[in-house]
Amino acid sequence: MSSSDRHTDRPRGRVILFLGAPGSGKGTQSSRLSSTLGFPCLSTGEMLRSEARRNTPAGFRLRRLLNCGALVSDAMVCSVVRTTLTRDTLHAGIVLDGFPRTVQQAAWLDSLLADFGLPVPTVLHLCVSRTELLRRLTARRYCAVCGATYNGGLRCVNDGSALIERDDDAENVVLRRLAEFDRMSAPMIDYYSGRDYHQIDGEKHPDAIANNLLEIFEAKPLPRQVPDAAVLSTSYTIG
Ligand code: AMP
Repeated sequence: MSSSDRHTDRPRGRVILFLGAPGSGKGTQSSRLSSTLGFPCLSTGEMLRSEARRNTPAGFRLRRLLNCGALVSDAMVCSVVRTTLTRDTLHAGIVLDGFPRTVQQAAWLDSLLADFGLPVPTVLHLCVSRTELLRRLTARRYCAVCGATYNGGLRCVNDGSALIERDDDAENVVLRRLAEFDRMSAPMIDYYSGRDYHQIDGEKHPDAIANNLLEIFEAKPLPRQVPDAAVLSTSYTIG
C-alpha cells in the first residue's frame, strides 16, 4: 500500500502549520504533505509575491517590502489569508506554509479556528542550522514558468525554462530575513509548546523528512479544541 493510500481516509478538519526559517524546506515539505493528505496548501509567501507582481501602487509598495526581507504587517497578512480560510476550506483540512509567523497571527488563527469549532492546529517545526540555511538560500533558484524550486542548476526539468534567483534570496536580504525569523521564532515556540507541536530535523534528506512527518500523522487522533485561554487572550482584529 502506498503512503498516499494509507492517508486517503484521514479525518478532515485538520489544520497543519509549518514553522521554520527561510530555506528550512517549508515549501517543499508542505506541498508534499498536502498532496499526500489530499489537503490544499496555502503559502502566504506565494500569495504575497503574486500580489506584489501587480502594477499598482499597493503592488509596488509590497514589492519593495518583500525585496528588503521585512515581514508584512499582521493586518495585511491576516486579511489576505482570511479570503482563503473560509469555514469550508478549514473544515476540509489545510496545510499552511509560512503562516502564522508572529504570535499575533497565531492568536488570530486560534480565534478563527475556535469560531468555526475546529481543533488546535498541528505545528511542524523544521529545524536547520544557520550554516546549512545560508548554503541552501544562496544556491536556491526557481523556475519563473512553473514555480518549481531547485538547489542550484540552470534549467527547469519540467519545462526547460531558465532558473532564476528570488529577489529576496540576495545575500543582504537573506541575512535580514534570517534575523526576522530569529526575532519571531522564540515567542512562536513558546506560544505553541505544550500543544500539538513537533520539532523535526530539517537537515535530513527530503524523503526522510517527509516520512518523519507522515509518522506524526499515523493513527493520530484530532487534537483537542483551541484552549479558551488562547482565545480569550486574542484582542487582534484585522485592519
Ligand atoms: P516565504 O516565501 O515564506 O519565505 O515568504 C516570503 C516573504 O513574504 C517573507 O520574507 C515576508 O516578507 C512575507 N511573508 C510571508 N508570510 C508572511 C507572514 N505570515 N507574515 C509576514 N510576512 C510574511
